[in-house]
Amino acid sequence: MPKEQEIKWSKLSSDIYERFAVELGEGLHDGADVTSGDQDVRYGIELQQKRLNDKGLTMYCDFVPRGQFSQSSSGSAEWKDEHYKSRTYWRTCQWKRLISAGDKQISAKQEKVVLYQTVTDVISGEHMDEEFYSCSNCGANVKIKELTKGCPYCNTFFKMDELYPKISNYYILKDYGRTSNELKREILKFVIPAIIVAIIGYTLDMHYSPEMSKSWGSAIIIGILSGIIAGGLFGYVLWAISLIARLFIDAGKAVSILSKTSGSNKRFENYMKRYSPEFSYTYFTGKVVSLVKIIIFSDNPDELPVYEGEMLGNRFDNLIDTSFNGAVACKNMKEQDGIITLSVEAFMTNTYESGGKIIEKDETVRLTMKRRTGGKLDYHFSIKKLQCINCGGSFDATKNRICPYCGSPYQLEDMDWIVTSIKM
Ligand SMILES: [Zn+2]
Ligand SMILES: [Zn+2]
Repeated sequence: MPKEQEIKWSKLSSDIYERFAVELGEGLHDGADVTSGDQDVRYGIELQQKRLNDKGLTMYCDFVPRGQFSQSSSGSAEWKDEHYKSRTYWRTCQWKRLISAGDKQISAKQEKVVLYQTVTDVISGEHMDEEFYSCSNCGANVKIKELTKGCPYCNTFFKMDELYPKISNYYILKDYGRTSNELKREILKFVIPAIIVAIIGYTLDMHYSPEMSKSWGSAIIIGILSGIIAGGLFGYVLWAISLIARLFIDAGKAVSILSKTSGSNKRFENYMKRYSPEFSYTYFTGKVVSLVKIIIFSDNPDELPVYEGEMLGNRFDNLIDTSFNGAVACKNMKEQDGIITLSVEAFMTNTYESGGKIIEKDETVRLTMKRRTGGKLDYHFSIKKLQCINCGGSFDATKNRICPYCGSPYQLEDMDWIVTSIKM
């Protein structure tokens, strides 16, 4: 077994999970292209990097494998649509995040986390020629058969294995699991101060009650003993938490454990399964997290095709990072005239910057979302390559409110979830 510190993920790895973990850090740092991400993931990272840049900030992020699932994981159940299949994988790692304003470091954070990544691939044997793909060099939406012969706009030539698989979503969760070495280190960190405090306490007690005959020796011995007992109890609690965390991660339940307990969640899941038997909370959670990111990091959220609600103006302008805290809870669901409306709560830790100060807040993001029911679910739906229902042309919906080819307006809620209110 190699030591934990010796493993490092590489951008050159054949494993897309590893590549993405490295590219994500670089993309947020200096806007380097995240080639392992699909167009919507790249868009989200681009928006966040621009937000940092506009505020004169630099973020440095990295993920170093550690913990009980540092090497590989079994992954969630797979979900499929007509052409694509997706699965979410998780590994445990140490997340380090540094934020600087100019040359001055204003925040440093290290946390043990689980990094979730959804890998989307084409279903083998599927005929993909007519599918649209957003050229990762120039951004034009082109049919795959054209891209493999060279993009008609920028001439970049793509091989099919450069187009898929891609990471179509990611998020991090705190990892409460610990390896036995980590447990030992954490208990030690607790035991030593406990011994010191106990010795001081006992010495003071001896000083103020001189009638009791106590010696320095007994103060030290009792101090050490009580430190070890307190440390042992603390260690036992840590070990128990760690064991439970391990079980949840192992079963892929860390995300959905809270969700599953709520009645309206179950009702929502059953309802969606009528349209698509593969509908899963893992998929839906990813969808919610990615919608929230696009809205909060956008310069102009009111112009976004995925947002249709009261004016947001610049209320999220100081938000520079967000991480998801574990559950998307469906609070309410109703269906009327073929439109399903959901109230959802997502638990996030948000990082704000204002005047060189970093503030972190645990917040509940309350969303209302809607979409038209019926029709097939497109799990690989992308706002970066919307396909016009009228003329079949493909275009970037983040830049166009109507189809640039035939002028038809589009209703995004006919195709996927849109957000009609967001509060935190
Ligand atoms: Zn191109
Ligand atoms: Zn059109």
